[in-house]
Amino acid sequence: GDAGLPKLETVVGEIAARMQSREERGNVATYIPELAKVPIGQFGMAVVTADGETILAGDAETPFSIQSISKVFTLTLALGKVGDALWAKVGREPSGNPFNSIIQLEYEKGKPRNPFINAGAIAVTDVLLAGHQPREVLGEILRFCRFVSEDETVAIDEHVARSEKQTGFLNTALANYMRAFNVLENPVDHALGVYFHHCSITMTCRQLAMAGRYLAFSGRLPSRGVTVISSERARRISALMLTCGHYDGSGDFAFRVGLPGKSGVGGGIMAVAPGKASIAVWSPGLDRHGNSVLGSLALEHLAKAMHWSVFG
Ligand code: GLN
Repeated sequence: GDAGLPKLETVVGEIAARMQSREERGNVATYIPELAKVPIGQFGMAVVTADGETILAGDAETPFSIQSISKVFTLTLALGKVGDALWAKVGREPSGNPFNSIIQLEYEKGKPRNPFINAGAIAVTDVLLAGHQPREVLGEILRFCRFVSEDETVAIDEHVARSEKQTGFLNTALANYMRAFNVLENPVDHALGVYFHHCSITMTCRQLAMAGRYLAFSGRLPSRGVTVISSERARRISALMLTCGHYDGSGDFAFRVGLPGKSGVGGGIMAVAPGKASIAVWSPGLDRHGNSVLGSLALEHLAKAMHWSVFG
């Protein structure tokens, strides 16, 4: 039972205090100029439990750019649209390479290794575009984020989207490479436009922890008694988060934290302790793989203190 566990609220508060006093924070992402402007000294954390208790600490209500965390939501929507046919377009193996790497596309005829590296997420976005205009797909993604976070204020930061487009030469190369092999089927600028915009969605830790509930709680939103996806699909998306959610830092994250998690270069991480809690952490300083330094560390402390590792 839970008798031996410390109180969650106390643990979260202590972790936040420890993180806020740490000097070693890595560096903010600079390749997207708008992200380089975000002050590094911020840390936020939110935990939502199965019974709906919400615990916030630090800058948990400050909106930040969710970046690659959005790839979890687009994957969910694409699986809803085409089901297992998606796996003809994108693999399910960790890449062991940086998130924006092009090298494996050549070996695999333009098929990306997994849906969470940039190439894979652009391919997923292309699947959502079939039969639709970019505007409609973006609306669908934004509506999904608002629905699972139960918050209509979730929005897109147009400055970030423009900044990504202006400097997105690698993403443009990835998209063109995949288009050459017909992995992308829609106009390259449509796929990229939607991709840059869904990466530019801003959310708070509170909203992201709310949004991750459907993965933590077998596809359901306990508060509403609503089923978002099947429990099998929630398990599979979580498995991909565990194996691929932190790019070439995924092995290390699984080793240290032991939870499915998805990071973004805005410094956010959405993680799930299956059956127990949905968690979001944010701190803009990144390690060399593009994962939040304090975010990973906070999750490591939390999983350890609460005995939440999926490995028991
Ligand atoms: N928008 C970012 C990019 O395309 C997403 C990368 C990330 O969060 N790792 O480079």
